[in-house]
This record gives sequence, C-alpha cells and structure tokens, in this order.
Amino acid sequence: MIRHLLPGVLFALLAACVLSFIAARSAQATLPDSHHSDTQAPPPLPELGQLELPWECSEAFRVTQTHDVGSHTGLGTWAFDFDLPVGTPVSAPAAGEVRLVHDDSTRHGCGPEFAWDANYVVIDLQNGYDALLLHLDAGSVTVKPGDKVEAGQVVGRVGNSGWVCGTHLHFQVQRSCSSWWCQSVPAGFAEHPQPQTGQELSRPVCEAEPQMALAG
Ligand SMILES: [Zn+2]
Repeated sequence: MIRHLLPGVLFALLAACVLSFIAARSAQATLPDSHHSDTQAPPPLPELGQLELPWECSEAFRVTQTHDVGSHTGLGTWAFDFDLPVGTPVSAPAAGEVRLVHDDSTRHGCGPEFAWDANYVVIDLQNGYDALLLHLDAGSVTVKPGDKVEAGQVVGRVGNSGWVCGTHLHFQVQRSCSSWWCQSVPAGFAEHPQPQTGQELSRPVCEAEPQMALAG
C-alpha cells in the first residue's frame, strides 16, 4: 500500500516546491522599482549614444562621480558629475526644446537638505527623454522654457547652487516627467560611450572654431 502511495506523495511534494518557488518569484516581480533593479536592467536607449559633452568644443573635464554611488542613487542613479569650475559655460548635449529653468537660487551646501535649491536647465530631447544640467550659477542661464536649442549651444554657466560638496556640473538624461527631477537612465556620449570615474573627457575641436580660421 505504502509502495503504491509513495510516487504520488513525492509528486505532490515536488509540485508544492515548484508552486511556492513560482509564487515567490512573482511576488518579487511586483515590488516597486528600486535603483538597484534599474542598475541591473537598464532600458535599451540606442539613440542616446550620440550626445555631445555638455561643455564647449576642445575643452576637457574629469568625471568625479558616476552611478549608484554617493549622492547618485534613486532618481539620480544614472547621473554623471564633472569637475567644471565656477563660471564654465555649459552647453546642450543635443538639439531640443527647453522645458524648465531655475536660475535665481544662491543657496547651496554639502547635504541633501539643499537639493531643491539648485539652479538648472531641463532640455526636452523630443524623444521622451530630457537632459538635466544642474548646479548652475544664479543669473547665468541664457535660455527660457520654450526656446529651441541646438547641440553645443551654451545655456548657462556652472556655479554653486543646491546640494554641492565642491563645484561641479551634475548631468543626467532622464525620462520626462512633471518635475525637473525625474528618473535618470543610462546614457553616454558620442566619443565617450561609457565614462568612468576619474576619466578626463575631451570634446573635440569643432568646425569653424578660431583655430580652424587661423589655420586657413
Ligand atoms: Zn551629481
């Protein structure tokens, strides 16, 4: 009798194990997104590989912070920080339309309580994504919402505003949302697809630069 029952019992135990495993997996899948799950499964964004570095032609600056470390977690997980000094012109990384501007804050400090005091330009890249240029100098922004900008067009200058522990430009590509601070996504630049912390990134000399005129 027991010999007849044994295969059935074993099958039932195995089925119970498989079912509970599947239930556990589907429970995990319904948890809200954390920045860790974003890190593991970046969405495919092939069109964002052609961005230009957000500063003037032939200039070079260093990457001081990349992804999922320090202040770059949550919505800012995929941001970059670059060591631009105060007063350095900041430019649009691609063509688009200015969506939001904040330009009148002089408050800053080394802590998250200053995060909402940052000056910024948000450029709608017209593909569902924005470019966010953050920590600009008060009064330095030269564009307003609705303005069309070209890649490389200067839109403001770096300054200390918001959450800064040393002057820098915070740059991220983000999914457009109703705020200036939206979910960042993986992005790279035409000449530097995957910038690393400590790397110096140089923007090439552009055509029709003064150097070209001198050479002619
Ligand atoms: Zn940053």
